[in-house]
Amino acid sequence: MRFLKTLMFGSLLLVANSALANECELTIDSNDNMRFDKKELSVPASCSEVTLKLTHSGKMAKNVMGHNWVLSSASDMQSVVQQGMAAGLDNNYTPDSDAVIAATDVIGGGEETSITFSTDGMDANGNYKFYCTFPGHSAIMQGVFKITN
Ligand code: ZN
Repeated sequence: MRFLKTLMFGSLLLVANSALANECELTIDSNDNMRFDKKELSVPASCSEVTLKLTHSGKMAKNVMGHNWVLSSASDMQSVVQQGMAAGLDNNYTPDSDAVIAATDVIGGGEETSITFSTDGMDANGNYKFYCTFPGHSAIMQGVFKITN
């Protein structure tokens, strides 16, 4: 009986491992409390492309509590946020700027979106930040994006 339990546990572990097999795919949730559920995201340097899925587990509409996921170098964050505000919701609060490495659409409660981007030009030692550019959100909705060796 003990042997059988061990076997079952072993196969459960296998299933869990294969679910995590693609380490170049990331998921992050956002909510009506203006929060991301992660403060740090990382991918190994071996990922030439990264897919980020953003979900919104809240109920509020995107013009009220919309969220997006924007990636840039830490030093570009402030200017991207400022220019994003000027760009407006119709442009997903995202400026047309080379400083933006990746950006999803703005979504509302119950929605999800994803973006696939190349890591070309990104540096394993670089300082990157992800954040929401909906006006007023980036002070709380931000985190560190790392490329690990
Ligand atoms: Zn937001």
